[in-house]
Amino acid sequence: MIDIQKIRADFPILNKKVNGKPLVYLDNAATSQKPQVVIDSIVNYYTTINSNIHRGVHTLSQKATDAYEQARIKLQQHFNAKKSYEIILTAGTTHSINIVATGFSSLLKKGDEIIVSAMEHHSNIVPWQMLCERTGAILKVIPMDEVGELLMNGYDALLSNKTKLVFVNHVSNALGTINPIEKIIEKAHKVGAAVLIDGAQSCPHIKPDLQKLNVDFYVASAHKLCGPTGVGILYGKEAWLNKLPPYQGGGEMIKQVTFEKTTYADLPHKFEAGTPNIAGVIAFGTAIDYMNEIGFDNIAAYENELLEYATKKLLSIEGLKIYGTSQHKTAVISFNIGEIHPYDIGSIIDKLGIAVRTGHHCAQPIMDFYNIPGTVRASFSFYNTFEEIDLLYNALIKAKTMLC
Ligand code: PMP
Repeated sequence: MIDIQKIRADFPILNKKVNGKPLVYLDNAATSQKPQVVIDSIVNYYTTINSNIHRGVHTLSQKATDAYEQARIKLQQHFNAKKSYEIILTAGTTHSINIVATGFSSLLKKGDEIIVSAMEHHSNIVPWQMLCERTGAILKVIPMDEVGELLMNGYDALLSNKTKLVFVNHVSNALGTINPIEKIIEKAHKVGAAVLIDGAQSCPHIKPDLQKLNVDFYVASAHKLCGPTGVGILYGKEAWLNKLPPYQGGGEMIKQVTFEKTTYADLPHKFEAGTPNIAGVIAFGTAIDYMNEIGFDNIAAYENELLEYATKKLLSIEGLKIYGTSQHKTAVISFNIGEIHPYDIGSIIDKLGIAVRTGHHCAQPIMDFYNIPGTVRASFSFYNTFEEIDLLYNALIKAKTMLC
């Protein structure tokens, strides 16, 4: 059960006013808000143990290293990786995808095929297009339908022994659709292809079991999980991470450096060159603890109630059309009202304290599919309330009256 009053008291920003109105934050698919424990964790790190990790014999350095490595273990446990060194700490989903896409340059040859879905964030499209340019590999796209679901027979038709890699998001940030990743992974493995799952939008709602999924790579960002920005993970099966070359050279990622030859450090350090966001990683661990204390099953159940309530309420507005109407979706509602430009709606309701996102949500191919410039996107989190949905509804009615 969600104790909404108690939870809201954990998030200092939720008491703030925006444009003189109480903040109604419905832009959670862009980033989540941060509970006080996460903010405290960052402040505590800089006020008590700030030091560089992995290199010092002095006490502070050891404390910082311990806290950093403990966070890695928390992440290993949360995502159920077999080994802690299969969790690479990165600057976020985008960084993680680029590590894999760049690494595959040496593993692909001309004519090899790699598969993406029609429903991806640009960060799970562009790095792969760059990989194709470097290698001559061919990018194929799993089609989607009007409801906002992937066409699995379209996927079947693309798979062959030429397929080397499949990369799809678990949940679409623009539509909220939950993709059938278990089937996608199983089918890819049957033709010998590896799979990367982009968990950026699913991880705040669904706790994945990476070993059970048998996925080869999984990427996510802390900032959608109540953690800080600029931190994320790249999970890779040990064998894959050993096969991939390092992404960046520098300190921390080496075994030995001479001018003749450098040898690389073992996992996870091979992929962690330079001084990382130490406070951010530690705070990511705190955020994971915080969310697990509430419980991901409780979070999902409550958010589903919000989604159901909001869907019914918004559909009662004449002319409002929702994009992404799958039965399998998380708490994201992408919509337009008649011909009104999403930006105009977003700007008006912002004046009423309501934060939603407008535009293409870094998923232009989805907008092209629906032949629209963009949508208004309201995305809910476990700290949102039914009253906030009523406020959104009232604000939309007001905006519609002003703009029609
Ligand atoms: N993939 C998906 C599905 C996303 O929702 C996002 C963030 N909106 C990203 C990738 C990119 O994440 P980041 O900006 O944290 O690197």
